[in-house]
Amino acid sequence: MNRIYYTKPSITELEVSYATDAARNGWGEDCYEYINRFEEAFKSHLGVKYAIATSSCTGALHMGMAALGIGPGDEVIMADTNWIATAAPVVHLGAKPVFVDILPDSWCIDPVLAEAAITPRTKAIVAAHLYGNLCDMDRLLAIGSKYGIPVIEDAAEAIGSVYHGKRAGSMGVFGSFSFHGTKTLTTGEGGMFVTNDANLYETVLTLSNHGRTRSQTKQFWPDMVGFKYKMSNIQAAIGCAQMERIDELVNRKRDIFLCYRENLEIHSDVSINPEPKGTVNGVWMPTVVFDKQAGVTREKLQAAFSAENIDARVFFPPLSSLPMFVDEPQNRLAWSIPERAINLPSYHDLTDGDILRVIDVVKTQVDRKSV
Ligand SMILES: *Cc1c(COP(=O)(O)O)cnc(C)c1O
Repeated sequence: MNRIYYTKPSITELEVSYATDAARNGWGEDCYEYINRFEEAFKSHLGVKYAIATSSCTGALHMGMAALGIGPGDEVIMADTNWIATAAPVVHLGAKPVFVDILPDSWCIDPVLAEAAITPRTKAIVAAHLYGNLCDMDRLLAIGSKYGIPVIEDAAEAIGSVYHGKRAGSMGVFGSFSFHGTKTLTTGEGGMFVTNDANLYETVLTLSNHGRTRSQTKQFWPDMVGFKYKMSNIQAAIGCAQMERIDELVNRKRDIFLCYRENLEIHSDVSINPEPKGTVNGVWMPTVVFDKQAGVTREKLQAAFSAENIDARVFFPPLSSLPMFVDEPQNRLAWSIPERAINLPSYHDLTDGDILRVIDVVKTQVDRKSV
């Protein structure tokens, strides 16, 4: 029985030929060529005015948050369910991540709780579109404008997701993307900062270039202390090829998701990534959550999948449960869902037979309960 990995990039001759070209020719005057092309392609895909390719999503978030002036004593509200990459830049800036609970269906930040967590020190709210599931952007943006607090979109997991005609990452004060090897579009490591705000763009552009403003004519003359989170031209070359294949990459994710959904929806005690009316879910990670009464545990799920030689990934543990933060067990869903949920494999080259093997394992878990 072949091993089924939970994710694996899809690299074709196109990516190889662009990367080869960048390695052979993309130096000297041409050292930014693929970077510029990648940024242009990304901007037009997303429908935003500005984009800056970065070495990671974490770097994009760090610079964007710094440009918003987030610093010591400030608070940034975010969902307790997330990868630490969203919280780390807040900590690095001397501010405090404030973790609130998630919604039961989207597993994304609960807007009511986000609003309730606002204090005079709140500097931003982060909307992270978990596993491709969209946050309730209408409510979050309304809260943001009511209190004058910017809403940041961490769209690292949400390429391909569309909210009432707008792409994930294009609605907040800025958006961030990740091209880590596990993500739908990959450059090995990499990220993107996007915004429609000209001033924010200029600030992040300066920060991203070690604090050198575009208008500075003196060499080696930074105007402020900045960051070094640049993407290389070789990585961008792979990104350009992936952008040409973006519809194919996202559609394959969606096909796999739809196949899982079709086969699992008959079981009322399992839920899968939602796709509310007027939205498209890019489904970076098809995920199943079992009802409490199903009696399933994370450990049982992992054992069942590993017995079938399938890599299934655990649902993010709550950030507040990690050793560097303070436990917030009142975030009940963020604390309970990971104990009865699992990410299902979804890489591009997964075969129909592989998908059926995964479905069979999930089914044995639900059927066992009714015995
Ligand atoms: C993957 C991921 C990140 C981090 O991306 P890097 O490119 O590894 O920095 C940030 N936020 C979320 C929600 C992610 O899934």
